[in-house]
Amino acid sequence: MQITSKFPDMGTTIFTVMSKMANDFQAINLAQGFPNFPVDEKLISILQHTAKENPHQYCPMAGLPGLLDQIAHLTESKYGRKVSPGNEILVSAGATQAIFTTIQALVFAGEEVLVLDPSYDCYVSPIELVGAKAVRIPLGDDFMPDWQRIRENCSDKTKMIITNNPHNPSGTIWKPQDFIELEGLLDDFPELIHLSDEVYEHIAFETFHRSVNHFPAIYERSVVVSSFGKTFHITGWKIGYLLAPEKLLNEIKKVHQFLVFCVNSVAQHTLANYLSQVDVHLLAQFYQEKRDRFSALMRDSRFELLPCEGTYFQLASYAEISDMDDISFTKELVQKGVATIPLSVFNADNADRKLIRFCFAKTDETLNQAADILCKI
Ligand code: PMP
Ligand code: GLN
Repeated sequence: MQITSKFPDMGTTIFTVMSKMANDFQAINLAQGFPNFPVDEKLISILQHTAKENPHQYCPMAGLPGLLDQIAHLTESKYGRKVSPGNEILVSAGATQAIFTTIQALVFAGEEVLVLDPSYDCYVSPIELVGAKAVRIPLGDDFMPDWQRIRENCSDKTKMIITNNPHNPSGTIWKPQDFIELEGLLDDFPELIHLSDEVYEHIAFETFHRSVNHFPAIYERSVVVSSFGKTFHITGWKIGYLLAPEKLLNEIKKVHQFLVFCVNSVAQHTLANYLSQVDVHLLAQFYQEKRDRFSALMRDSRFELLPCEGTYFQLASYAEISDMDDISFTKELVQKGVATIPLSVFNADNADRKLIRFCFAKTDETLNQAADILCKI
């Protein structure tokens, strides 16, 4: 039988490739974004207790009512916006599924979706799967949206713009002016929908994270994606959620019900309980200390660290060390003991700026060991 591939050119994600190389070379893994420290004991104890309470059957399709209530409560306490638990929230199997489902539900074949590069890797495939076109637009040199270029690429074919703030991989955070520009764009293109990937919303340092939740006119045209994986150090649980106005959410639910129907019940019951006891506002301080520790440890290295306003990623230039391209550089670095991510893989044209990404969501011991190696390079 001849198989026709829908994705003849697709390889394995860089995160899988680099994690495998880290294992193969016994290197410290600062590549794939996941924490290597234990999760909160309280969460584990709620999970153990919950498992005995028969949470093992299907939840309602859009989410466990107790969890939807807690998400509404979190949204109001953090952003001051009231959300209707029954009409505006969908619990998803991680942000990846929320993004995939949103694109499947709202974008049609022949339409265009704007993706701002460097961009996280789960945006383009779902766009192509519906027969739409991903229009890749570079961010500026400072990794902030280039609104003029975005406008120039908007037409009556443009159905959606996907943004990511705080931004993986650059760690930048939008300024108030970016929201003014976005609101103007949505005004000028009345059919345009905004997909706002805010999975690092609670990891913002000196710069305040403004969410789409703060801007009612933008929210009316947006789908906002969050991930419990990032917020509670549980990337393997694959659970998150999206917020959207009812008329957008109704369409998204139509796809969701036949993609997963409902998300893992044990995780939903556990998080409903945990959310009522945990303070997500402590997360920023926790990661700020890690960022500062890593940056202090790297002070004597030949890497030049770029500013990091949020997320748990740190970009660094290795231009002083080598003129190799970034993929070759990371392949060599992993053999010297540290796995990282080359930035070019986040760009449509693989543009290489001699930048690599470190993940600092690691124990102090891991960061110390990694920095020891990096400072000798
Ligand atoms: N968006 C961004 C920017 C991410 O970095 C990630 C994952 N790390 C995701 C989406 C996917 O999140 P999840 O693991 O909850 O699917
Ligand atoms: N989001 C993670 C990162 O940027 C990777 C998640 C994955 O491997 N799918 O490193």
